[in-house]
Amino acid sequence: MSQKLKSRSNLFEKFSKQLHLLKDEGIIDIELKYPETYICPLCLEQFQKSDLIANKSKNYLTEEDAPPAKLKGSRIALTCFECNSKAGHQIDHHLIHRIREIDDSKFHKDSVQRVRVEFEDTFVNSEITSKGNGLLNVLHKMDNNNPSTLDRFIYNLKNKSVGEILNMVPNKKRIDDSKVDKALLKTNYIIAFSKFGYIFLLDSYYDTIRREIKEPDSPTEGHLMISNQFKSNHIGTYYVCNPNSKSTFNVFSLKTDYSETLIGALLPFPNMEPKELHHNLTSIGTKFGKGKVGVTLDTRKYDPNADLFNDISEINIIINWSKNEPQQRV
Ligand SMILES: [Zn+2]
Repeated sequence: MSQKLKSRSNLFEKFSKQLHLLKDEGIIDIELKYPETYICPLCLEQFQKSDLIANKSKNYLTEEDAPPAKLKGSRIALTCFECNSKAGHQIDHHLIHRIREIDDSKFHKDSVQRVRVEFEDTFVNSEITSKGNGLLNVLHKMDNNNPSTLDRFIYNLKNKSVGEILNMVPNKKRIDDSKVDKALLKTNYIIAFSKFGYIFLLDSYYDTIRREIKEPDSPTEGHLMISNQFKSNHIGTYYVCNPNSKSTFNVFSLKTDYSETLIGALLPFPNMEPKELHHNLTSIGTKFGKGKVGVTLDTRKYDPNADLFNDISEINIIINWSKNEPQQRV
């Protein structure tokens, strides 16, 4: 068995075992089609072990990176080929471009970016390498420029007749903010799936979130994401214990060769809309002008030793906690 197939197979077994355990214990009520079943967390289609092998004639299971691989995420779950390619590629690259755009604006040492230098009524394509200490090297390559325009540009540069100011225009990447949000929502949802498996996420309550991820052009609902407030040692999964706000909270890292962006995102337990969670949290917050509310999250760290995939008593503890009010700590 190849290394890749082995790692897909391990993921299959981990989630499938939990799925059948939840079914046997009556925690979920869903007909499972196979002796070993895996349900794609995005479309809820059922798969069997032979679907781990790529198959051109039918849908099959693929590894899912959360955050996206280009932001140095890791393969923590399986999704079906259709969801992975349709939803993944259509929304993830907006997030990747957004992070790269932020990187470009900071001219990190040794970073390279492509720009257009405006010249007469046209432009030349250039590559800027940041050397650090504010020094930028600008290279105009022969092979991606019109030779006569480039010759004219260089001639004018030498004769100092290109004008005193050269406008450098970054290559515009098409970024759709709502798809950036959806890519973050997907990352948060898949991370929650990797921690809790099918305990909560098969609930029809999450259909709205799944639809948003699967249909890139659909409108976005309100989501609960926070950035610029975390350090690397915050990365992980938490339980939020604020009154009437029981939810999970994932802090994850989007990394490039030059930067790290940390995002925290809430996902309510079933039966609470994101809007309701937002209201419950902010109504106890401290107002500090212009509609801004500071909220202190009362969190408990997810316990990696509590085996939510094989240990039914640990599974029941978290289910009971998610339901009960007033606050009962995990
Ligand atoms: Zn799917």
